[in-house]
Amino acid sequence: MLKKLLSCGLIIAVSTFAFTPHLLAASSEEKLVVNGKEITPKHPLLIKKGDPFMSLETLSSIETFDTTSKIGDVVTIEMDDVELEYDLDDNTFTVNDEKVNTSSKPFEEQGTVYIPVKDWESYIGFDVVYDDMSDNTYVFLKEKNPVQPATSKLLNIEVSGDEVYWDTSYYVEPEITRWKDPQRMHIDLPNTELSSDLKNNATMSVNNDWVQSVRFEQLDSTARIILDLYEKIDYEIDANAVQRDVMMTMSEYHFKIVLDAGHGDHDPGARGHSGGHEKDFVLSVTTKVEDLLRQEEDVTVYMTRQDDTFVELYDRGNLANEVNADLFISIHGNAHDKESINGTETYYWQDESLEFASIVHEELIETTGFVDRGVKKTNFKVIRVAQMPGVLLEIGFLTNPGDEAAMLNEQFQVRVAEAIVDAIKTYFEMEV
Ligand SMILES: [Zn+2]
Repeated sequence: MLKKLLSCGLIIAVSTFAFTPHLLAASSEEKLVVNGKEITPKHPLLIKKGDPFMSLETLSSIETFDTTSKIGDVVTIEMDDVELEYDLDDNTFTVNDEKVNTSSKPFEEQGTVYIPVKDWESYIGFDVVYDDMSDNTYVFLKEKNPVQPATSKLLNIEVSGDEVYWDTSYYVEPEITRWKDPQRMHIDLPNTELSSDLKNNATMSVNNDWVQSVRFEQLDSTARIILDLYEKIDYEIDANAVQRDVMMTMSEYHFKIVLDAGHGDHDPGARGHSGGHEKDFVLSVTTKVEDLLRQEEDVTVYMTRQDDTFVELYDRGNLANEVNADLFISIHGNAHDKESINGTETYYWQDESLEFASIVHEELIETTGFVDRGVKKTNFKVIRVAQMPGVLLEIGFLTNPGDEAAMLNEQFQVRVAEAIVDAIKTYFEMEV
């Protein structure tokens, strides 16, 4: 969602005598000035190959940022609606979940993480200028895009049949988000005012199969249309920028599910007791889940891989983000040095995933009859990247002769696939 950038300028001036690519001891000369207020930086600013780096601790002391955190290898910095995420482990940088290519990477020195602030100019809306001509070094982070005043007007809105129609005094691209409990949709029109006929906090009652009522809110420079819905719906937007009108066509919701068969190609995964590879077992089970889901009318299935190919962990989770999936399921077989270890484990990361994790785990335990090793919260990358309810299923231990014999059985795999599909149906019934 587009939101106002910082309404205040931010200027950071740091003075030291000589920057080297290595960590300098924090000296008493260090000065950090933020909006005219002097604060003491936790660590000196570092310049590497001409690019300025600030320590995460120093960033944390700047109130402008909502969150600065490091969990495991992931560094997150949030400000307003912008979330920057660096993964130190695999050198990825995402801005609001979109992968960004960047030349300067964060680095860790003596237990401190240094973040390249130069990269931020295009994401957070600040210019960064590094002046190495003077004895002192200054870094300026200043406001780049001033907040636009509201200039368009929402003139009219109609709800009829499968269509919602609105027009504005000049064309504004809508930003649409779904909300639940109760089901509703926000249509945000940036830089737009409600016309005097459409009052702030007013409710318009409609007689429609999809929409119960329409409400209006003026949020600073954004006009918000709230559609209160009977159930979750899909929609298509058809806009005519010249006519300045927008038509939204509503239809029955299709749940989008991303199935991820773990490993593939040169990454075989676990080696089974009798010599088989995890990558083959998981593809076989995942394909069975896919076949069953393709028979469901209101479900759309996506597969991260359909054959023996290799897909990066990030791309697996990110496919789910790209298609705006409702659910992400990664399927695996487990391994242990001790062949006596057996049983089923279900992993999740985001708290919102626990509900589905519990449902699918129960179904799996009932179906496999394997030892119940529980539902566990673990920071696996593939489920961490996916920004929706997601699970990683370890169906059983391929290194355990008993588990493996069952897991390689075709009928057993069909029953496991059915159990996963049953869990999906139960979950979505609760969701609608
Ligand atoms: Zn695996």
